[in-house]
Amino acid sequence: MAFVGELRVSTKEREQIIDITKGVAEEVRKSGIRDGICLIHAMHATAAILVNENYDEALKEDFIDFLKKQVPSGVWKHDKLDGNADAHIRSMIVGQGQSVPIKGGALALGKWQGICLVELDGPRERTIIVTVV
Ligand code: ZN
Repeated sequence: MAFVGELRVSTKEREQIIDITKGVAEEVRKSGIRDGICLIHAMHATAAILVNENYDEALKEDFIDFLKKQVPSGVWKHDKLDGNADAHIRSMIVGQGQSVPIKGGALALGKWQGICLVELDGPRERTIIVTVV
């Protein structure tokens, strides 16, 4: 039987990386599932989910800078519609979801790994679906 939980996150900046590990871990705890897989899915076309180091704030800024350098703003066809093609393409590159194994009732993350929401067209209210099977 699958467990489906939901997280709501209010972002504050246009681009922002927010650690959601504790919220995801709480959903895993509520699921009661000891061994399985946790799927973390952002229900948005201009946000993403990543798993990486969540300790050094500078690395979060570096990754946003990387995305801005790789995907420039204001040069895309979709910008004529609503001006946020950069956010869509950055979201496509990072991906809307991640999966993390569940081992012994806990997220099987390394010491320096965390789960983060990547806001790419904020500030907005974001919804993340956490499925545990
Ligand atoms: Zn758009």
